[in-house]
Amino acid sequence: MTTIFAATEAPSPSTTTAPERFEVLLESQRDDCLRRRESALAEPIASNLDPVAMSRTATLLHVIAEIDDALARIAAGTYGLCVHCGGAIPEERLEFRPFAPSCVTCR
Ligand SMILES: [Zn+2]
Repeated sequence: MTTIFAATEAPSPSTTTAPERFEVLLESQRDDCLRRRESALAEPIASNLDPVAMSRTATLLHVIAEIDDALARIAAGTYGLCVHCGGAIPEERLEFRPFAPSCVTCR
């Protein structure tokens, strides 16, 4: 009899990346970016051409786009692989920046 998931045992931490864990992380970061973008846009000073507010919202949009890409890679089963060289992105890097599309070498 083969046990696929033993509920009482923690999965091996070092061998594989768990995309599900990062998916949760990415979703919450995406929500956070959307909220920060909304509050940035809601600031009266940010109304028109304040360059700081403009670049802040642009950065948030960029991050949201990267998060969307990362979620698409999770759906495609390629999450955690560098989009340039196809090598595995170290998990420490994904912990720090879960939407990182490339490894440190290709960054
Ligand atoms: Zn690479």
